[in-house]
Order: sequence, then structure tokens, then C-alpha cells
Amino acid sequence: MKLAQSAVALHGVGPRLGERLARLGVDSIADLLCLVPQRYEDRTAIRPLGGIRPGEKVLIEAKVELAEVAFRGRRSLLCRVTDGTGAITLRFFHFSRGQQEGLRRGVRLRCFGEVRAGRTGLEMIHPEYRAVDADTPPPEPTLTPVYPTTEGLHQQRLRTLAGQALAMLADEPLVDYLAGRLPVDWPSINEAIEFLHRPPRGADTAMLLAGRHPCQRRIALEELLAHRLSLRNAAAGRRRERAPAFDPADDLVACFLESLPFELTAGQASAWGEIREDLGEPVPMYRLLQGDVGSGKTVIAALAALRAAASGCQAAVMAPTELLAEQHQANLGAWLKPLGIKVVLLTGSLTAAERRAAQEMLASGAAAVAVGTHALFQAAVNFRQLGLVVVDEQHRFGVHQRLSLKRKGESGDIVPHQLVMTATPIPRTLAMTAYADLDCSVVAGLPPGRKPVRTAVMPEQRRGRIVERIAAHSRAGRQAYWVCPLIEESDHVESSAALELERELTEALPGLSVGLIHGRLKAAEKEQVMRAFKQARLDVLVATTVIEVGVDVPNATLMVVENAERLGLAQLHQLRGRVGRGRDESDCVLLYKAPLSEHARERLKVLRETNDGFVVAEKDMQLRGPGELLGTRQTGIVELRVADLARDADLLPMVVRLCDELMTDEPGCVAPLTGRWIRAGAEYAKV
Ligand code: ADP
Ligand code: MG
Repeated sequence: MKLAQSAVALHGVGPRLGERLARLGVDSIADLLCLVPQRYEDRTAIRPLGGIRPGEKVLIEAKVELAEVAFRGRRSLLCRVTDGTGAITLRFFHFSRGQQEGLRRGVRLRCFGEVRAGRTGLEMIHPEYRAVDADTPPPEPTLTPVYPTTEGLHQQRLRTLAGQALAMLADEPLVDYLAGRLPVDWPSINEAIEFLHRPPRGADTAMLLAGRHPCQRRIALEELLAHRLSLRNAAAGRRRERAPAFDPADDLVACFLESLPFELTAGQASAWGEIREDLGEPVPMYRLLQGDVGSGKTVIAALAALRAAASGCQAAVMAPTELLAEQHQANLGAWLKPLGIKVVLLTGSLTAAERRAAQEMLASGAAAVAVGTHALFQAAVNFRQLGLVVVDEQHRFGVHQRLSLKRKGESGDIVPHQLVMTATPIPRTLAMTAYADLDCSVVAGLPPGRKPVRTAVMPEQRRGRIVERIAAHSRAGRQAYWVCPLIEESDHVESSAALELERELTEALPGLSVGLIHGRLKAAEKEQVMRAFKQARLDVLVATTVIEVGVDVPNATLMVVENAERLGLAQLHQLRGRVGRGRDESDCVLLYKAPLSEHARERLKVLRETNDGFVVAEKDMQLRGPGELLGTRQTGIVELRVADLARDADLLPMVVRLCDELMTDEPGCVAPLTGRWIRAGAEYAKV
């Protein structure tokens, strides 16, 4: 059982390194073997400059033609190199005097880095480089593995450790849980692991770089299987659970529907029909409600909450942002109050007294509905009888958050019903991996009278024209959003960019009132701004992506998004969903910083061509850039290490079959298999 030993048993691993490995989810030596490279770098051949393209990571050799310090924009050292077939500029933002001197005209360099499309042609930013001399080794004989890693743990270190672990694998192979269940030409788990850590000479480079090598597919299959097994297993474990069967409350429901200024759409009615059935059963509902932005999911949540209240139970509605929680509280409060149902708000920014008051009402049962952020599920919050949990905009919460959330409502054997709502339509492959434990309902279509949002994509140089358009737009009594998303990894930078934009627009639009909302405002301040915008006391709302989800102001019919090329398609679709909520024609203008890569152009085109969130989601998955992972950071849903839901979608039928087989024939392997691939809490740095 040497592989089960702690990684600290390896040569050169002390407590500190052990801790860093643990952050990657690596405790045992076997874990280290399963930490297979995420991707590979090709340092096996020197590429002629004439044949390289943006997005590729390449090894090049070329002569310095010109090196100069430029002050335009950010001070940087620019070094133009050529090899007779083409040229590229190396760009350094940080550089020492020595470095600057080393990059003299005529020096021959070997560089490795990512090719980008710069202002004046191809660029490499901060490439690894060395001057070529007699000691320069030949290119690497095989592909270089790149491991998922974490702060303070270098690739070279991981390569060495993997080598030690591999040496042990020869004596003690890993258990192959899929032996005999796969087509005969598939590699075993041990063959795959060995190959991927050390791709041998002559390995199929193109396949490995594309992530399509049979050994990568073997691991991807097992990883996807582990995710599905863990969720199906959770679902199977619930068969014994009991939930309160809700009263049909037909009269109250009729009264509520009567009070609405609209009728349910066919899509709403059919989704509600499924939920209504579930809520009447004495077993917990676990249901995902998908519906495009603006399809009207909130009413369905209100109906479910109403049934809970009518049955002497409570409902908790969790939203990902305070802004959205406040809006839900306002809506649900207004809808349910006439029926004698009290709705309280619980967010992190209540005063101590407000919080205490809300908590008391929930503990005593005086309030039947609680709306809030994750603050709802903190230890100090107790419900008298929680019967329903609604999670809105689920894509902002991870799978594990979702699973831990339900514990809150458990009392004895009784667990609450769970309704998970999302406006990010989920591609089928993702649903089968991340939501395999849920039943699914879809709100098809939008309320009547909605016109599709017209979407235009343009370079930010056209800003002046947009500002004029806003002026005309406001004179016509309409309102506009201008979103200025995260451009650097900090809240602070983001809010100051928004502040600057607000100043600029205030100046350029005399006579109009421009408001500002961002994540660093206090909840009360945000609410004030939002109220002013809702009441049309503001013409333009400058915002960061805090308004991405749920905000509902039908009179706002123009949405401008800056730096659109940096946002995900699903996120842009969400932002666009802030307009087109009334009966008027709406527009969305996506501004980008030129030059736009081919790939970014393709992505933005999708939004111009469709308003259908499901199409956007599928395309988003297919069009992710090279090396982009569909991890927690991107979607908040599943963290996959090797598998890629777009690339490996064709494995899913096999995953489903194997999952069923193993759960029936070999339930004992569920725990070790999921433990092998799912590392809750592991944090990877970007590599
Ligand atoms: P989402 O599904 O994005 O959460 P909301 O629940 O916020 O959508 O609904 C969007 C808007 O549509 C709200 O103003 C809501 O009152 C309105 N709405 C919901 N259902 C209908 C309907 N059946 N007919 C007309 N308007 C509706
Ligand atoms: Mg919503």
C-alpha cells in the first residue's frame, strides 16, 4: 500500500511542500499520480515566424533587430526579432537594465511564449527567453507537461515528484475500476497515467495538444464518471428522505394568480404543473428550473413559496447578490402580503438590530418566507419549519455549495423541497455532469409582446456616437445601462473605472442624470441608486457586472457593454437580458477594444445572431478559446481537471452507461472512484 502513503513520504517533500500539495487536493502518492497534466507545451521544434498564429504557444529562434523602450500606454521594452521568414515583437512591462542590455541588436534569441495579435503585428508578452550560444541545448525531445498548480509550487518540482511516484506505480498499479468494461483498444488506467505524465518519444503530438489522445480520453472518461457517480449516488441516498407534503391550497393559488397583472405563459404553466405535483408528495423535490432571462421564473418561485406557507411551512429564497435579493423581497413581498404572508430580507449588510428582528421572525415562524443571500444559511439563522429552499441563479453557486445548503433545513428525517433556478441555459453535456441528481423543468418561451433585443458589435472608438445616441434615447424618455466590466482582477480597479466613466458621461450629457452602481457600495446605497433608476429619476446607470442577474427595469431599453470581448457569452447574454423587458424595441451595443482576435469576433457574432439563451450556451461551450477551462471560475458549476465538456461530449453516453453499471454491480467502487477525481476545495492557480 505504498501509493496510499502521504505524499510527504516522497523524497524532498517536507511539511511546507506537503501543505502546498494538499491545496491541490494531493494528500497521498496516488493522488499525485492522478494529478495528470492539464495540457502540454510543444518545445520540440523551432517554429518559423512566418507560420505562427495568435493563440499558439511556440518555441522560436530569431535575431534582435531593434530594441527600444516605449512610453506610449504603459512603459515597456519592445524588442523586434526576425528569422528571415517573419518578425515578432517581444514586449516586457517589467525589465531590468541588465535585461535591456542583453537584448542588443544582432543577438540571437530562443524564446517560448504565447503569440498574440498586437497593435503592430504579432507579439509575445514576457516570453521565456535565452541568448543562443554553443551551450544552448537542442529542443526538448518530447512534449512538456503542464500541471495544475498552486502558488509557490513550480512545474519543475511537480515533474520531479511525478517521476518518483511513477517509479512506484510499476510495483503497485492503481486499481482499474473499469477493467473489462471498456472497448479492448482502450488503455488501462495505469497505461494512461504513465503515458500522460511522460509522453514517450514519437507520441502523437497533435492529438495530445488537442486533448484527444486515447490516454487523455481514458482519464476524461473516468473523471466525468466520477462526477456523475457522486451526484447519482447522492440522489440514490435521498430515496429514504421524507419531506412535508404541501397542501394544494387551490383557493390561495387562484387568488394569487388572479391578483397578477398578467396570465402565466404556457411555458410557466407547464413548469409550474411539474413543480406543483412534486410539492404535494411526502418526498423532497430536487428540481432544476431552467428558463431564459426574462422568462418569468420569479412568479413560479412565489407560487411554490405560497404553497409552503399555506402548509404551515417556511420557504427560503437564496439569491447570489444583495441587489437581486432585495428585488425579490420587494416582488415577493408585494405579491404575498395581500394573502397574509410575511416576507423578510436577510443579507449580510443588515444592521445587527435588523438582523436580530428578521431572525426572530424566522425562528418563531411569524415570517413564512425569507429572501436573502448566502447569509440565510449561516449558523445563527434558524427556521421554525423550513419546507422549501429556492436557489436563484444557481450558476453563480458551485455544486458543492448546493449540496451543503440543504442540510440547513433538515430536522430529523424531514428535509425541505429544493428548487434550483437558472437563467443560464445549461448545455446538455453540462446538465448530465453537474445536475445529474436533479429533475429538470424548462420555462419555454418569453411573456408575450417581447421584442428581441437588437445587438450590435463595434470598436470602442465609436463611443462618441454611442454617447450621442444615449442623449437622443433619454430625450425620448427611455433609460440606458452602461456596463463597464471587470478589467483587472480587483474590485477596486473595477469600481474606479466605473467612477471615471460616470464622470465622463455626466460631463458629456449635460441635463441628464447619470447614476453609478458597483460592488463596493453599501447595500443601502445600492438600493437608493436602483430605486432612483427604477423610478426613472436617473437616465443612465453606469454599472459594473453587479447588475448582471435579475435586475428588472422595463423602461431601460439600451444596454452598452464595454470590453465585451473579455466576458463570457453567457454573461453577456445575461447582461443583455436587462433590456428588452418591456414592450418597446431594445438595443444592446457591445464595445470591444481593437484589435479583435478571430476567435473573439466569432464569439461576439453569436450574440448578434441569436437571442436564444440555449443557443448562446451551446456556442459558448463550443467556442471557448484554447486552454480555457470550464472550471469554477468560468461557470461556477463544475471543476474538471482533464475532461472538457465541449471536447469530450461524445463520451457522455458511455459515462451514463458505466455509471448505471457500476452503481448496480459494484457499489463499493463509488466512493474510491469519486474520491480519486473530485477534490472539494482544491484550488488551482491559472497555468
Ligand atoms: P427571470 O426568469 O429572468 O427571473 P422575471 O421573473 O424577473 O424573469 O420576470 C421578468 C419580467 O416579466 C418581470 O417584470 C415579470 O413581472 C414579468 N412577467 C413574468 N411573467 C409574466 C407573464 N406571464 N406575462 C407578462 N409578464 C410577465
Ligand atoms: Mg430571475
